[in-house]
Amino acid sequence: MRCRFAPSPTGPLHLGHAYSAIIAYDLAKELSGTFLLRIEDIDRSRARPEWEQQIYDDLHWLGLEWPLPVLRQSDRLATYDKALDDLWDRGLLYPCTCSRRDIQDAISAPQEGILSIGPDGPVYPGTCRPVHAPTGPRPKAANLRLNMRLALQALSHPTTFEFEETGATHCETIQFAGAELVTEVGDIVVARRDMLTSYHLAVTVDDSAQDITHVTRGLDLFEATKIHVLLQHLMGLPTPVYHHHSLIRDENGKRLAKRDDARALSKYRSEGVTPAGIREMIGL
Ligand code: GLU
Repeated sequence: MRCRFAPSPTGPLHLGHAYSAIIAYDLAKELSGTFLLRIEDIDRSRARPEWEQQIYDDLHWLGLEWPLPVLRQSDRLATYDKALDDLWDRGLLYPCTCSRRDIQDAISAPQEGILSIGPDGPVYPGTCRPVHAPTGPRPKAANLRLNMRLALQALSHPTTFEFEETGATHCETIQFAGAELVTEVGDIVVARRDMLTSYHLAVTVDDSAQDITHVTRGLDLFEATKIHVLLQHLMGLPTPVYHHHSLIRDENGKRLAKRDDARALSKYRSEGVTPAGIREMIGL
């Protein structure tokens, strides 16, 4: 059994991160498995070395340990590039030049009907989707979308997908239909021009590369997990067991955000709160 905590070094870790990290750590302990740390720093405009260092300091302070070296996504661009080449060569990707504004304008056109919001925002209306799959070499510095319909057709059993869910709210096999991905998720971006990959692609490739058997993450990523299961099928990778945990909220019921410095672990630490005190605060 192998699980991971995969923070992005774009701000201080707060109580919600402590909750997520400790859930993964405790699960690994309970199942005599291995807990890994992965630094998800593909967003170079927001990732900072000092936040990465703070992650190590905060997690060590909490009493967590992990094997070295830590996998850092910014070191893995060549691997993502290869995965993208493969999807491109199979005719499943296409370049997209739409801005957020273009997408918004297209979906507010009266003939578009009901607007559907997927895990990545509005379902892409298909403006740049080509009639025939593009041929020739893959444009490297471009936004690339997955042609969801073609992706489903490329699978031998495209009608339903499933994954094991062991989280707090349900322990069961979650099934979902391929057709649901077309209408509720749409042609997702799998490579961003500025990142040369995307969260969805990188996380799927890396969970497999690190032999992760149990993915623990917040319920806010439940819908995104369906995208990852699809990508696993497309890339011939195994589907881990998923454990979606509840989210730590502030007194107004709002989910904690990175900018929520008031609940940063380092702040509690400087105020003399102990790691046991943090566990108590988050009910673990
Ligand atoms: N790196 C992502 C985050 O900090 C998510 C990790 C995951 O996929 O579980 O939210």
